[in-house]
Amino acid sequence: MTASLAQIIWIVCVVGWYVLRYPHERKARKTAVAASHRGGREWLLLSISTTGLGIVPAAYVATGFGGFADYAFAPLQGYIGTALFIAALFLFHRTHRELGRNWSVSLDVREEHKLITDGVYRYVRHPMYTAFFLWALAQAFLLPNWIAGLAGLVGFGTLFTFRVFREEQMMLAEFGEAYRAYSQRTKRLIPWIF
Ligand code: SAH
Repeated sequence: MTASLAQIIWIVCVVGWYVLRYPHERKARKTAVAASHRGGREWLLLSISTTGLGIVPAAYVATGFGGFADYAFAPLQGYIGTALFIAALFLFHRTHRELGRNWSVSLDVREEHKLITDGVYRYVRHPMYTAFFLWALAQAFLLPNWIAGLAGLVGFGTLFTFRVFREEQMMLAEFGEAYRAYSQRTKRLIPWIF
């Protein structure tokens, strides 16, 4: 594995992620929202995450931007990064399939929103965010640059940190006891651990 091949793998996986997401975005546009909890703060968080997972690494791959923070690429990190990104895409696909029409890019409650607690949601409450963290980790391994590599963890980590509590409050307000019980028997990101 070379650094260039690792960059190509990063591009292929990001495009693959969008191919997986696109049909759900289309479906989401057709599914009515009952109550939206979006706002300037959500917009800012989504922008920070997109910058870290997309814009900064894309600029690095396209132009070598931030080259002063490069370090020597080790082939092993390319293999680890590839495996992590494949795991991320697999989990991403499953979470989208299982959330179905209940999915939103932001904090929305849909008309006839159903609480999903099956499939991967049986093990953790935020498996799609686990998938994004796997992507961010994959990026750190695939791009041998301290800025472009770590930008995903900083960007998505910011979104997660400032969103997850509000998302859970929203779900609790909507589903009450059912969500409280679900929260008591599940962790957030890593089964049995965190
Ligand atoms: N945090 C979840 C979902 C991310 S998508 C995950 O990481 O897998 C965000 C939207 O999903 C939120 O607007 C919320 O309405 C919805 N959502 C979150 N958890 C849900 C669940 N268990 N069942 C149904 N919808 C859920």
